[in-house]
Amino acid sequence: MQINIAILPGDYIGPEVMAVALPVLETVLRRGGHSLKYSTHAVGGAGIDAAGKALPDATLEACQQADAILFGSVGGPKWEKLPPHEQPERAALLPLRKHFRLFANIRPGFLPKALLDASPIRSERIPEGIDMVCIRELTGGLYFGQPKRTTVLPDGDSEAVDTMIYRKSEIERITDVAIATARARRRRLLSVDKANVLETSVLWRKTVTERVAATAPDITLAHMYVDNAAMQLVRAPASVDVLLTENMFGDILSDEMAVICGSLGMLSSASLGDVKNSHGLPFGLYEPAGGTAPDIAGKNLANPCAQILSAALMLRHSFGLHAEADAIDVAVKKTIADGIRTADIAFGAIAVSSSEMGAAVLARL
Ligand code: NAD
Repeated sequence: MQINIAILPGDYIGPEVMAVALPVLETVLRRGGHSLKYSTHAVGGAGIDAAGKALPDATLEACQQADAILFGSVGGPKWEKLPPHEQPERAALLPLRKHFRLFANIRPGFLPKALLDASPIRSERIPEGIDMVCIRELTGGLYFGQPKRTTVLPDGDSEAVDTMIYRKSEIERITDVAIATARARRRRLLSVDKANVLETSVLWRKTVTERVAATAPDITLAHMYVDNAAMQLVRAPASVDVLLTENMFGDILSDEMAVICGSLGMLSSASLGDVKNSHGLPFGLYEPAGGTAPDIAGKNLANPCAQILSAALMLRHSFGLHAEADAIDVAVKKTIADGIRTADIAFGAIAVSSSEMGAAVLARL
């Protein structure tokens, strides 16, 4: 199989962890008899520096020619004084999501037994670690609904409006992603909403219920209000298999999930849409859950696992290469279990550098 991807390393630790992940990707593909074709392009702050905008035309063009995007992370202090709409994250990621209609964000929340110390949750509450997936609707809801504005009222007071809006079809397509994810796992789906207060949530709950009943009788579905879900994630995270929710709730709950799973440096994510690539599989953008970590950039300290695991997600979803993706996941788990850790997950033990961590994963691959 020809794997044709656009690589967008981004800023600060982005290029560092990308440089560590790439040999892992190349190795697993070579071993499977596949060929990797990629080109590397500036995005985020690097795009602003090189071409005057966070998503240069040449970068977008290269993404359109590719079957998937492997993304690092963007932003940082160097560009913080720019107007909000020109800042790297907003001006690169949001247009990419919009352009490729990436409506589904898949974030695995994974804490292996060997890393229990990394979680703020007491180990006896999660003796087997954590293994869940958050499916977040990414292009609807409160963040995009119109009207969205701030007005000064005749009496001199100010009023701001955001609009939360969902169509049934938007809920159905994200439910289908969650069903497919649950089918590949423990077949348990938890849909999170606020149906006791919000109209959009009433439609959400009804649509998810009907969709699962009609197309996925093999899936066990439960519903939970978002405030309760925020508590249950801390109280009993191991009980969750696949968590499905709308855009804003997913933004918040997926970060809560990240923190209970230890370091941001371990967590990958996939954003998928209805655009198919040349293999007839979903075009996707794959990136670490964390940001550019300017505090540790340039020191070879960053944990490269999130970037490596993002490459595995890409092989799984955009290329259907499950054995290769599994091999990467297993190599990362073995590395951690063998006690090889970057500083963010070392907890007093001797920490290895980013490149040493990458070499250890490669050796176990
Ligand atoms: P951050 O995720 O970059 O860092 C938060 C903390 O986690 C820091 O202490 C950092 O050192 C640590 N961390 C993150 N990734 C790590 C890794 N791989 N290994 C070890 N430690 C890691 O969040 P922030 O500091 O709030 O944001 C920094 C910049 O990143 C900002 O400009 C923000 O806008 C941007 N950002 C970008 C994305 C993205 O590109 N998708 C996402 C979030 C934040």
